[in-house]
Amino acid sequence: MKAARLRPSPLLGASASEVAHRLRGARRLLLLLDFDGTLAPLRPRREQARLPSKTGALLNRLARHPRIAVWIISGRSLRDLRARFGRSKRIHCLGVYGADGSAGAHPAMPAGGLDTPSRRALRTALRALSRDVANLAGVWIENKRLSFALHYRGARAREIRRARVMLDEALRPRGKWLRVLAGKKVWEVLPRAIQGKGAAVGALARSTPSALVVYIGDDNSDEEAFRALKRGITIRVGGRGESRARYSLRNPAEVCRFLEFVAAESD
Ligand SMILES: [Mg+2]
Repeated sequence: MKAARLRPSPLLGASASEVAHRLRGARRLLLLLDFDGTLAPLRPRREQARLPSKTGALLNRLARHPRIAVWIISGRSLRDLRARFGRSKRIHCLGVYGADGSAGAHPAMPAGGLDTPSRRALRTALRALSRDVANLAGVWIENKRLSFALHYRGARAREIRRARVMLDEALRPRGKWLRVLAGKKVWEVLPRAIQGKGAAVGALARSTPSALVVYIGDDNSDEEAFRALKRGITIRVGGRGESRARYSLRNPAEVCRFLEFVAAESD
């Protein structure tokens, strides 16, 4: 499927009956969800992001359903996600674009973990950038162990330009091992060995071939997942312009309403 203009919401519009029909016909459902901007509204700082209580209650209800498996797949670290979803043992979490999982569950990570040159490149780039951006207002680094993120939400244009130059300089000698994934007000620095959300959701879908896969996400990193799930129900949140996703929802509040719709169609 080529990238196409998104179909407008409200709540899937004319496609609602087509989606309801597929949900009702599914023997198993694999519900794969991004976190920031998808389940939780984006906030000025990442630590302020909160899962709306209604969405949390719905996810717990869906995860208890015998035919439904719920996975959260985010750029956040597994530890961060666990702190948010840890009380529900039924909700599975994968951090760092699918590479950070509990034992036996990190489908985007190469077997045996990250190789030594990748680890070394990540460590030295992180050290160099931490020093370089220390005095740039509104720019800060989040170390996620398997990757790091350079955040610039709240920074002025001049600081953002300088941060980008510093990022490019830090990565130039390490381009063989590291890549940049541009997200919303963030540059994620990932080892090339970590394949990202497309590989993660592809592996999950293959592990349950009889399942209908639903994937919902709002950012560039989610496009890899949309591309990998050609037969699934793929939904882009809040996007304007082009997407590989088949459907669209406008915001996390509509995602919550869609999850209600899934729960109703699955009962
Ligand atoms: Mg997101």
